[in-house]
Amino acid sequence: RRTGLLERELRQAFAADQFTVHYQPQRELKTGQIVGMEALLRWRHPRRGMVRPTEFIGLAEDIGLIAPLTERVLARACRQQWLWRHTAMPTLRLSVNLSPIQFRESSVVTLIETTLAETGIEPSCLEIELTEGVMLENSEIALANLRHLNRLGVRFSLDDFGTGYSSLAYVKRLPVHRLKIDQSFVHRLGQDGQDEAIVRAIIDLGHSLDLKVTAEGVETSDQLERITELGCDEAQGDLISPPLPADAFQVLFASQPLSIAVRG
Ligand code: C2E
Ligand code: MG
Ligand code: MG
Repeated sequence: RRTGLLERELRQAFAADQFTVHYQPQRELKTGQIVGMEALLRWRHPRRGMVRPTEFIGLAEDIGLIAPLTERVLARACRQQWLWRHTAMPTLRLSVNLSPIQFRESSVVTLIETTLAETGIEPSCLEIELTEGVMLENSEIALANLRHLNRLGVRFSLDDFGTGYSSLAYVKRLPVHRLKIDQSFVHRLGQDGQDEAIVRAIIDLGHSLDLKVTAEGVETSDQLERITELGCDEAQGDLISPPLPADAFQVLFASQPLSIAVRG
């Protein structure tokens, strides 16, 4: 019954466009600069306030709403990039989460191609965050879609890395360009030697395969220090900033200290 209510509310929310996108900065550790952002879906519920995607993404997938919802997130985030280009903001990398089930159909390719064309975003500025789930079903079709997008210049990262299974086979098979270390390992850095070993192993694995590595869920300066020592490339987490509405993201970006290193 609860699901029935949520389903009804979700459909209404979609029709009434109660969704918005927040942006969480991603910091390059070598330079200390914000080099990218992850677009994160938010539902502004009229009574419950901001609802986190974990509470409704699964249902949205089940009732066929995930593709239209993602289409909105992607369009909104790309339009925001386009707006920023006409202000003092430089072009930063944009990461968008796509649901694995969207890769079962080739329409995902059309969606991304069309959005890029309409907003004039460089394909190389877009990074799609995937989870290993993308390969669970119809993996040949999913792989063909990923490769097609990859040929256009779109990049892929593996999200929540380390939590799934047979990660290594996927890393080899998928055209990915970055690993995102799952927050659960990052949170226990400094408390749990095994988690530290896992973080180190993911960073080393990534680098030996010529991939970039981002640590997710960085909350403390100790965690930041540790991932920096371990050679991680980028950090994302509440320590740097929680996800922000577009205008607040712009303020944060403008307030960061000037680059401490010469940028290539
Ligand atoms: P994710 O892609 O792994 O995103 C990271 C999540 O960690 C976000 O949760 C973010 O707000 C949260 N987070 C960031 N820094 C910290 C930190 O320092 N500490 C803690 N405790 N959490 C942190 P959020 O926004 O609730 O999103 C949850 C998941 O929902 C995302 O996980 C992603 O899988 C999914 N999602 C979000 N937006 C979309 C979307 O537009 N489409 C699809 N298909 N999935 C989405
Ligand atoms: Mg993500
Ligand atoms: Mg994640």
